[in-house]
Amino acid sequence: MATILPSPPKVGMVSLGCPKALVDSERILTKLRSDGYQLSADYDEADVVLVNTCGFLDSAKEESLAAIGEAIAENGRVIVTGCMGREAELIRERFPDVLAISGPHQYEEVVGAVHVAAPIPPSAYLNLVPESGLKLTPRHYSYLKISEGCNHRCSFCIIPSIRGDLVSRRPDAILREAEKLVAAGTRELLVISQDTSAYGVDLRHAAWPWKGAEVRAHMTDLARELGKLGAWVRLHYVYPYPHVDRVIPLMAEGLVLPYLDIPFQHAAPSVLKAMKRPANEAKVLERIRGWREICPDIAIRSTFVVGFPGETEADFDYLLQWLDEARLDRVGAFRFEPVQGAAANDLPGAVPEELKEERYARLMERTAAISAAKLQAKVGKTLDVIVDLADGAGGATGRSKADAPEIDGEVHLRDAMVQPGDIVTVLIEEADDHDLYGVPVQ
Ligand code: SF4
Repeated sequence: MATILPSPPKVGMVSLGCPKALVDSERILTKLRSDGYQLSADYDEADVVLVNTCGFLDSAKEESLAAIGEAIAENGRVIVTGCMGREAELIRERFPDVLAISGPHQYEEVVGAVHVAAPIPPSAYLNLVPESGLKLTPRHYSYLKISEGCNHRCSFCIIPSIRGDLVSRRPDAILREAEKLVAAGTRELLVISQDTSAYGVDLRHAAWPWKGAEVRAHMTDLARELGKLGAWVRLHYVYPYPHVDRVIPLMAEGLVLPYLDIPFQHAAPSVLKAMKRPANEAKVLERIRGWREICPDIAIRSTFVVGFPGETEADFDYLLQWLDEARLDRVGAFRFEPVQGAAANDLPGAVPEELKEERYARLMERTAAISAAKLQAKVGKTLDVIVDLADGAGGATGRSKADAPEIDGEVHLRDAMVQPGDIVTVLIEEADDHDLYGVPVQ
């Protein structure tokens, strides 16, 4: 006689915030799926909805509260987790019906809350999860989180008070996860953390056995081992500590992508000091020159804050001149926004909103011109491109080694019979301020 198994409960997920929060969501979903839950793409079908929130900026908090409100209105059975979980009273005040609230990385709490809200029937299916876990990114690229928290105390940032001091993962655990991802089809590993160059400081850079040898909990060792897995390896959130110089030869050798994402935030010494950033901008320019000598193709992306309290016109001009010299490949900018609980809110010299807007526009105009000139210099060259989207009729979009997903430019392809995840050699035919256009060559 056939046995009819009861349907397992369904869980919906709304994931907000940065790639680190996305990785948290992936871990939670992976655990829930391995526990036997089904996932639901819409509110109607879900037995319970998880909202993974972001609390970095006040605008992000508003977005998180709006997402919780929508989930309550559409489904009614809502569990909240993530950075905003630290402000449980505020959430409860606005949404008294929320079932449970937990903070960032509290995986056990959030999974436990789902088990209480929607218990699994005793005979539900198990082992439904691929070895590499469940992913919210396309199959061909994956974020790889190497640590949590941060030991810095930048005055505009509340991440350390939300996520705590640096806690690094063991290098062997990271490498095992990376191997599984590559075996499951990942062709690009995006290394993320709050401070990638500080990786392993809390572990005193101890070594663990790995493949008959040892690997230290250190950025350079980890980058070298990741580079041996055969996927593109892209390093994000790197601070220019001296040992970063030792990663550049790995880029020149082709083990790691020639790409560094370094959030400089400003260049003027007085602003950096007020931001409590550990950086000396004069030396940084020298270092960038040195990196380009070793690895001429290196692409450097960065983010900057304009209108920080006390930023004078002279400071801002200094930043523009610094950018003219540094000639970074990709630049993102933010207008300073006070974050509840950040030390910077109490600094004197608030910059009026119109002035912030004006400086933002000037910075973007200046950096777009640099980006356009750098991209124009690629016309006529061939570049390796990883395909993200293909329409099946010859049109496709991908990224070169200089472009991270979501934040950098794209390469638009014509006459390309390709699939997402393919890596093809492309002749660059045209460029604009941010993107390239080309055709695959044999
Ligand atoms: S380095 Fe500074 S901005 Fe980045 S997470 Fe740490 S404290 Fe925040």
